[in-house]
Amino acid sequence: QAKSLGRGRFVFFDESMREKLLENMSLEQELRAAIKKQEFELHYQQISNLGSTSAIGFEALLRWKHPSKGILTPSQFLFMAEETGIILDIETWVIEEVCQQLQQWQNDTLYSNAFIGVNLSGRHLTQSNLLNKLIALIKTNTIEPERLILEFNESAFAQHTDVALKGLRKLKDFGVKLALDDYGAGVSSFSFLHSYPFEFIKLDRSFIRTLNNSDKNLTLVKALNELGEQFGYRIVAEGIESESMLKKLQGAGCEFGQGYHISRPAKITSTIETLSAAEKLKA
Ligand code: C2E
Ligand code: MG
Ligand code: MG
Ligand code: MG
Repeated sequence: QAKSLGRGRFVFFDESMREKLLENMSLEQELRAAIKKQEFELHYQQISNLGSTSAIGFEALLRWKHPSKGILTPSQFLFMAEETGIILDIETWVIEEVCQQLQQWQNDTLYSNAFIGVNLSGRHLTQSNLLNKLIALIKTNTIEPERLILEFNESAFAQHTDVALKGLRKLKDFGVKLALDDYGAGVSSFSFLHSYPFEFIKLDRSFIRTLNNSDKNLTLVKALNELGEQFGYRIVAEGIESESMLKKLQGAGCEFGQGYHISRPAKITSTIETLSAAEKLKA
């Protein structure tokens, strides 16, 4: 890149830039190895019906058990995975893992109706070979596609909007459910709401947080909820951190939600741990 600045120019790397560069290089190498070394795991966060407070499903959230740095969350490595394309291999692993979980639940009276939400990079929508791979992957895992919710945020549509829309329609025809993630965090165009085949609109945590000091935004939640009936989507509030927040959202008729106040993301390790969630599912 320094070269592109042209002849006769000096490009200085100071020590901190050099360190950052080296750090990123090793991050990339470690990421490439992490799948084989089975360092990734999924934590699941419950998504609830806010009216009855019963669980309707879970969102799968990626964690990296880094050999020296401990458990890393996506903000610490996702940018690199996206930049290098490693994200595609990671997401293949995520889908396989989630499908296995759904298979385990298929004959379980408590969990057979649960769905799992998976976050996906927008690339799957705009590159038709990736889209076909994704569909084939779900097919070979023999789960009911409607148990799977694929979550995309609006960055997936920023470019190649028409292609992305076609991709979404293809996924919908295949039978999976679709969610627009992080709504209210970006430009949040209204056109997403009525012309895209989303089953769920997930309101971003940053927007939900404002409900504590502004009733105007609560009115907006109400309105979005009502519009959903006509446009065919349902609202999920993210980042519910307190009882007062939960009450406000319930009052606004918000149908679904997730957040630390309801349940923190956690590994599904034993039946004991998931029992309370299972009981709620049944309710
Ligand atoms: P997201 O899809 O919006 O997921 C919700 C994020 O909010 C998660 O962060 C979750 O742990 C956090 N969260 C849930 N409830 C609360 C709350 O009450 N308070 C606060 N402060 N946070 C809450 P996490 O797990 O760090 O993931 C961050 C983002 O990384 C996700 O945002 C998602 O876009 C992305 N991500 C996670 N897993 C994957 C994956 O497998 N593939 C891809 N492509 N992206 C992923
Ligand atoms: Mg999400
Ligand atoms: Mg997301
Ligand atoms: Mg989100």
